[in-house]
Amino acid sequence: MSDPHTGGCLCGAIRYAVSQPLAELRACHCLNCQRASGAGGSVNATVQSASFRLTQGSPKRYEALADSGRTLYRYFCGDCGSPIYSQRASAPDWLSLRAGTLDDSSGMKITAHIWTKRARPWSHIDPSATQHPGQPDAPAR
Ligand SMILES: [Zn+2]
Ligand SMILES: [Zn+2]
Repeated sequence: MSDPHTGGCLCGAIRYAVSQPLAELRACHCLNCQRASGAGGSVNATVQSASFRLTQGSPKRYEALADSGRTLYRYFCGDCGSPIYSQRASAPDWLSLRAGTLDDSSGMKITAHIWTKRARPWSHIDPSATQHPGQPDAPAR
Protein backbone atom coordinates (compact mmCIF):
# COMPACT_ATOMS: atom_id res chain seq x y z
CA MET A 1 0.00 0.00 0.00
CA SER A 2 1.48 3.34 -0.93
CA ASP A 3 0.78 6.59 0.87
CA PRO A 4 -0.88 9.34 -1.19
CA HIS A 5 1.25 12.04 0.45
CA THR A 6 4.68 12.51 1.93
CA GLY A 7 6.49 15.56 3.20
CA GLY A 8 9.05 16.93 5.59
CA CYS A 9 10.93 19.90 6.97
CA LEU A 10 13.52 22.12 5.33
CA CYS A 11 16.60 20.26 6.59
CA GLY A 12 15.15 16.78 6.05
CA ALA A 13 15.43 15.63 9.68
CA ILE A 14 11.65 15.22 9.89
CA ARG A 15 9.79 13.15 7.31
CA TYR A 16 6.18 11.98 7.38
CA ALA A 17 3.58 10.08 5.37
CA VAL A 18 -0.18 10.61 5.10
CA SER A 19 -2.38 7.66 4.18
CA GLN A 20 -5.51 9.65 3.26
CA PRO A 21 -6.13 11.77 0.16
CA LEU A 22 -5.95 15.55 0.66
CA ALA A 23 -7.69 18.14 -1.49
CA GLU A 24 -9.10 21.01 0.56
CA LEU A 25 -6.80 23.41 2.38
CA ARG A 26 -7.64 26.03 4.97
CA ALA A 27 -5.67 29.26 5.37
CA CYS A 28 -5.38 30.62 8.91
CA HIS A 29 -4.57 34.31 9.35
CA CYS A 30 -4.45 34.32 13.17
CA LEU A 31 -1.65 36.19 14.91
CA ASN A 32 -0.12 33.00 16.34
CA CYS A 33 0.20 31.52 12.85
CA GLN A 34 1.73 34.78 11.63
CA ARG A 35 4.32 34.68 14.39
CA ALA A 36 5.02 30.98 14.01
CA SER A 37 5.47 31.23 10.24
CA GLY A 38 7.03 34.68 10.01
CA ALA A 39 4.58 35.27 7.17
CA GLY A 40 0.88 36.00 6.68
CA GLY A 41 -0.27 32.87 8.48
CA SER A 42 -0.52 29.18 7.73
CA VAL A 43 -2.10 26.98 5.08
CA ASN A 44 -3.22 23.60 6.37
CA ALA A 45 -4.72 20.29 5.42
CA THR A 46 -6.93 18.70 8.06
CA VAL A 47 -5.71 15.15 8.59
CA GLN A 48 -6.96 12.34 10.78
CA SER A 49 -4.24 11.61 13.30
CA ALA A 50 -4.56 7.92 12.51
CA SER A 51 -3.64 8.69 8.87
CA PHE A 52 -0.46 10.55 9.78
CA ARG A 53 2.81 8.96 10.74
CA LEU A 54 6.34 10.19 11.17
CA THR A 55 8.78 8.20 9.08
CA GLN A 56 11.90 10.00 10.28
CA GLY A 57 12.85 12.21 13.23
CA SER A 58 10.64 13.62 15.92
CA PRO A 59 9.44 17.22 16.03
CA LYS A 60 9.60 19.49 19.03
CA ARG A 61 6.35 20.63 20.59
CA TYR A 62 5.43 24.18 21.52
CA GLU A 63 2.26 24.72 23.54
CA ALA A 64 0.38 27.96 22.95
CA LEU A 65 -2.95 29.45 23.84
CA ALA A 66 -4.73 30.07 20.53
CA ASP A 67 -6.82 33.14 19.67
CA SER A 68 -9.82 30.84 20.01
CA GLY A 69 -8.91 30.27 23.67
CA ARG A 70 -7.96 26.65 23.04
CA THR A 71 -4.62 25.12 23.87
CA LEU A 72 -2.82 24.33 20.65
CA TYR A 73 0.28 22.17 20.30
CA ARG A 74 2.57 23.33 17.52
CA TYR A 75 5.04 20.75 16.23
CA PHE A 76 8.17 21.91 14.43
CA CYS A 77 11.66 20.75 13.49
CA GLY A 78 14.08 21.55 16.31
CA ASP A 79 16.97 21.73 13.85
CA CYS A 80 15.67 23.98 11.05
CA GLY A 81 12.53 25.44 12.65
CA SER A 82 10.02 24.37 9.99
CA PRO A 83 6.48 24.20 11.37
CA ILE A 84 5.10 20.71 10.53
CA TYR A 85 1.65 20.45 12.11
CA SER A 86 -0.51 21.58 14.98
CA GLN A 87 -3.04 19.80 17.12
CA ARG A 88 -5.69 20.96 19.57
CA ALA A 89 -5.19 19.58 23.06
CA SER A 90 -8.94 18.87 23.12
CA ALA A 91 -9.07 17.11 19.73
CA PRO A 92 -6.21 14.61 19.45
CA ASP A 93 -7.95 12.71 16.65
CA TRP A 94 -7.20 15.48 14.14
CA LEU A 95 -4.21 17.54 13.18
CA SER A 96 -3.56 20.53 10.95
CA LEU A 97 -0.73 19.73 8.60
CA ARG A 98 1.23 22.69 7.19
CA ALA A 99 0.65 22.39 3.46
CA GLY A 100 4.03 23.91 2.58
CA THR A 101 5.76 20.85 4.01
CA LEU A 102 4.07 18.49 1.52
CA ASP A 103 6.23 17.14 -1.29
CA ASP A 104 3.39 17.50 -3.80
CA SER A 105 0.24 19.64 -3.68
CA SER A 106 -1.28 18.50 -6.96
CA GLY A 107 -5.05 18.95 -6.98
CA MET A 108 -5.16 20.90 -3.72
CA LYS A 109 -6.92 24.21 -3.27
CA ILE A 110 -7.53 26.70 -0.46
CA THR A 111 -11.28 26.50 0.09
CA ALA A 112 -11.57 28.49 3.33
CA HIS A 113 -9.87 31.38 5.09
CA ILE A 114 -10.21 31.76 8.87
CA TRP A 115 -9.30 34.60 11.24
CA THR A 116 -9.61 37.03 8.34
CA LYS A 117 -10.10 39.88 10.84
CA ARG A 118 -6.42 39.41 11.75
CA ALA A 119 -5.19 39.17 8.16
CA ARG A 120 -2.36 41.45 7.14
CA PRO A 121 -3.24 43.99 4.45
CA TRP A 122 -0.72 42.32 2.13
CA SER A 123 -2.20 38.84 2.51
CA HIS A 124 -4.16 37.52 -0.44
CA ILE A 125 -7.64 36.16 0.25
CA ASP A 126 -9.36 34.45 -2.66
CA PRO A 127 -12.84 36.05 -2.83
CA SER A 128 -14.32 32.77 -4.10
CA ALA A 129 -13.26 30.90 -0.94
CA THR A 130 -15.29 30.70 2.26
CA GLN A 131 -14.25 33.35 4.76
CA HIS A 132 -14.60 33.41 8.54
CA PRO A 133 -13.59 36.47 10.60
CA GLY A 134 -12.61 34.23 13.54
CA GLN A 135 -12.63 30.56 14.43
CA PRO A 136 -15.48 28.68 12.74
CA ASP A 137 -17.00 25.66 14.36
CA ALA A 138 -15.25 22.44 13.49
CA PRO A 139 -16.67 21.08 10.23
CA ALA A 140 -19.11 18.18 10.58
CA ARG A 141 -17.57 14.93 9.39
ZN1 LIG B 1 14.39 20.31 9.82
ZN1 LIG C 1 -3.78 30.22 13.01
